[in-house]
Amino acid sequence: MISYGRQSISEADIEAVVEVLRSDYLTQGPVVPVFEAAVADMCQADSAVAVNSATSALHIACLALGIGPGDTVWTVPNTFVASANCALFCGANVDFVDIDSETWCLSVSQLEEKLQRHQQKGLSLPKVVIPVHFAGQSCDMEPIARLAEIYGFRIIEDASHAIGGSYRGEPVGSCRYSDISVFSFHPVKIITTGEGGIALTNRPDLYRRMRSLRTHGITRNPAQFTRQLEGPWHYEQLELGFNFRMTDLQGALGLSQLSNLPVFVDGRNRLADTYSRKLRTQTIRLQFIPETVRSARHLYVIRVPSQKRKHFFECLREENIGVNVHYLPVHLQPYYRNLGFSENQFPESEAHGKEAISLPLYPGLKESDQLKVLLVLERLSSEI
Ligand SMILES: *Cc1c(COP(=O)(O)O)cnc(C)c1O
Repeated sequence: MISYGRQSISEADIEAVVEVLRSDYLTQGPVVPVFEAAVADMCQADSAVAVNSATSALHIACLALGIGPGDTVWTVPNTFVASANCALFCGANVDFVDIDSETWCLSVSQLEEKLQRHQQKGLSLPKVVIPVHFAGQSCDMEPIARLAEIYGFRIIEDASHAIGGSYRGEPVGSCRYSDISVFSFHPVKIITTGEGGIALTNRPDLYRRMRSLRTHGITRNPAQFTRQLEGPWHYEQLELGFNFRMTDLQGALGLSQLSNLPVFVDGRNRLADTYSRKLRTQTIRLQFIPETVRSARHLYVIRVPSQKRKHFFECLREENIGVNVHYLPVHLQPYYRNLGFSENQFPESEAHGKEAISLPLYPGLKESDQLKVLLVLERLSSEI
């Protein structure tokens, strides 16, 4: 089976992990801070907090921004459930903003319209908005940041798909237009640490808070102690945190993978460009990428007429092509339906969910395999 996505692991990656196994530290030790600094540096952000998943990163990002019961967080339905679940972890409410019909990312005009409507009717406004850089393509962050100023919300970029991409000439993750940006290092993403994630920020207060929440809310910094120092063994838990630490094994893998990031992103873009060139037919719709954006190309998603999607999907799978669907809209998941969401609330995301197929895309995808995918699609398109 040609999978839709998979990791690329080099001998150097393996060496890096083995070296940690031979060292004194297995969990968070000297390598994790080096990895954090390398990611922050690459993204031109001030600081980074590495954790055990992007889900954890989103969770502590919400907590650091003060999200709690009574607050509302807005994100898009066309995403992985973690983008919305992070708000629920904090006891807050979730609402959604539909995607743009061309970019398949958060619609700025829908966001603005919903903010206006909620303000006029006295409905709840979001404390945090989480734009999702779908398939590796940055949302249009500049106008979103402008709306944040007007309506007083904070921004967490769910950039799980987008490390190595850029927006207006700057790396995704710079946090120029947001408070916090989050990457995922799950094996299907652009670079991997097995499981892992990171939160970037330019705000020292958010950095300190996320570091604390990563490790139980415990501090060993005497300057933060509230009680008298009993001895050198003294530490204090000041808030309720978690064990969200990244291990040094993961940090070493991430650091080694990071050195290949430009190669990975170039490779993904080359393959994606080949798909785009060959697939510009009338029956298959492709994601529109504005000139301000370079996508990291986590996913290559096509859209076919909804009544044909099952047929396309099954034929591709029969040919051992591991296609997938990104995403079933979050608000239509049974858990979210039980919270009161239903069909027809977010029509663009729902149409996307009925039409989307993710094609195989990863740096090690063989040209002959891509050709096979294209031939099957050509046959299927000619049938429509
Ligand atoms: C993968 C993903 C996550 C969660 O990442 P984990 O590292 O698996 O927790 C969150 N948001 C989006 C958009 C994702 O694709």
